Formats: sequence, C-alpha cells, structure tokens
Amino acid sequence: MEILPRACSGEYIGCLGITEPNAGSDAMGMTTRAVKVKDRYIVNGSKAFITNGNVADVMLFYAKTDPARGAHGISAFYFLTNGVNGLYREKIKKWGMRSSPTALITFDDMEIPEENLIGGLNRGGAILTNGLCTERITLSGCSLGSQRACLDLSLRYARERIQFGKPISSFQFIQGKLADMYTSYMASRWMAYSAAAYCDSLEKKVGGKGTDLDRKAAAALLFCGEMGTKVAADAIQIHGGYGYCQEYAVSRHYLDQKLWDIGAGTAEVRRMIIARELLRDNFQSAR
Ligand SMILES: Cc1cc2nc3c(=O)[nH]c(=O)nc-3n(C[C@H](O)[C@H](O)[C@H](O)COP(=O)(O)OP(=O)(O)OC[C@H]3O[C@@H](n4cnc5c(N)ncnc54)[C@H](O)[C@@H]3O)c2cc1C
Repeated sequence: MEILPRACSGEYIGCLGITEPNAGSDAMGMTTRAVKVKDRYIVNGSKAFITNGNVADVMLFYAKTDPARGAHGISAFYFLTNGVNGLYREKIKKWGMRSSPTALITFDDMEIPEENLIGGLNRGGAILTNGLCTERITLSGCSLGSQRACLDLSLRYARERIQFGKPISSFQFIQGKLADMYTSYMASRWMAYSAAAYCDSLEKKVGGKGTDLDRKAAAALLFCGEMGTKVAADAIQIHGGYGYCQEYAVSRHYLDQKLWDIGAGTAEVRRMIIARELLRDNFQSAR
C-alpha cells in the first residue's frame, strides 16, 4: 500500500476525523455524509479538534453512508489531502499541547474515489471503536512520560530550592507530595503496561463493545489521565510561583496533562464504557 510505509517513515503526516462540532462524546451521532455518485463519494460536513488536521498529508475519517441505520450506517474513508477540492482546514488556538496542531475541517462537496472506502460499506462503527482501544493505550503512555518528567523536575527543584535555610525537599509537606507523585506514576505505569500487554497478547487485537480490551484500555487512560492531572498539579505546587511561569517546564506539563482527561473519549465516557463492560451478561471476572 502506498500510504502505510510513508506514514511509518514520517514522510506522511496523518490525521483522524471522528469528532464533529455537535458530535463529541456522542460520536455515533455524527452528521458528516458521504453519498455515492457513480464511482465516487461526495462528502459534506465538518470535523472538529482534529490533531494534525491542518498539516496532514493523509486523513482517515468517518461519515454516515446510511443515516437511517445510525451507528450501523457509518463508513470509514481515507484520502490524500494534497490538491483536493472542497476541503477546508482551519487551525484552532489551544492553551495546551501547543506543539501538536489541531484543526477544524470542513468538507464541501469534496469528492473521493470509491476505492478509498476502508473495511466495507457501513462497517466503520466497529473500526472506530476498535481503533479507540489502541489509541487509549497509546495516550496512556503519553501521560506516563509527562508524569515521569514532572516527578524528575520536582525532585531536582526540591533539592535545589532553599527556603528557611534548607532545601525544600527537607520539609515533610514536600516529601509527601513527592511520595504521592511517585506512587501515582508507578500505579499509572501498571495500568498502562498491563493494558498494553493484554492488547499484545491478542492475536487479532479486536477491541470495541463487548471485549475485555475495551474495558482495560478505557481504565488505563481513565487512571493515567486523572493521576497525570494530579501529578502535574503537585509539580506546580512544589515549584511555587516559578511553576506558574512559562519558562519552567512543569507549567507546560500541567496544561498538556489535562488533555488526557478529554481526548479519545472523556473520563466520563471511559467510566461509562468500563461499567457497561463490567455489567454485560457474559462478564465473568475482572481478570
Ligand atoms: C487537543 C484535542 C485534540 C483532539 N484530537 C482529536 C482527533 O485527532 N480526532 C478526533 O476525532 N477528535 C479529537 N479530539 C476530540 C475529543 O475526542 C473530544 O473533545 C472528546 O471526545 C469530547 O467531545 P466534546 O469535546 O464534544 O465534549 P462533549 O461530548 O460535548 O462533552 C462535554 C462534557 O459532557 C460530558 N458528557 C457528554 N456526554 C455525557 C454522558 N452521556 N454522560 C455523562 N457525561 C457526559 C463529557 O464527559 C464532558 O465532560 C481532540 C480534542 C482535543 C481537545
């Protein structure tokens, strides 16, 4: 295939279009339409908050191909963005994740060849929920890196910063925060690594509704996101006023970490997924 090797080598930047201005947590409520006309699909609608959307060479997106069938009327498509008519991309200003551009994308009678349909007509819903499982595990790893950086930076600063004639690391309140940060980070690591190992152990790596992978991936990112937000807040507190200044890296981690409570399905959505999977009829035990 012409795209995957280039995406893996970094020659192509990709983006993924699920979310819409009026369909976020309710992703299956998307209204972007792809209508088949002869050997092409005509696409209309818009996608919001698309990471790399304004710089991507290739886009994978979901659209309704049979709206009356709801979640069962969604299909996945891809296209190369270069020179496509009817594609409009507008960068969104964010306060975190500043090195990762995010865009609003509009399709206005955009035409793509029928062979750009992926995985079969009206089969996109399963691809979407399956892909979100691996995305949640990957994003757990992003939170872990940031948590570790917060801990490392805080340990260094606590040893260097002198108040009352002593390093602040000698004060028990600071020591308590460092201990909590370490514990949160190690617990997050376990959640992320165990979900990743479980995913690796699956021959076909199928996730989505009704699978153990859905629950484990949602739980990993739920925990890593919420712990990460707390770890970053503790790091700011240890840095005092300097932590509130942009020149100290912990301030960036604080802004970035919040995204892991929101992206790839919010913390609330993850709790809904975990509870749904725990309560499903054939659920046996929380292995
Ligand atoms: C920086 C960034 C990058 C992103 N990148 C991408 C991307 O590349 N591709 C992509 O497709 N999307 C992307 N997203 C979108 C992201 O997945 C959505 O923001 C997220 O799914 C939430 O949707 P929403 O923002 O519309 O919030 P809403 O769905 O409007 O939710 C608002 C609040 O209501 C809560 N809520 C909603 N429904 C329920 C319910 N049933 N029960 C309880 N609470 C509920 C939510 O948890 C949240 O707290 C990105 C978002 C951000 C901020």
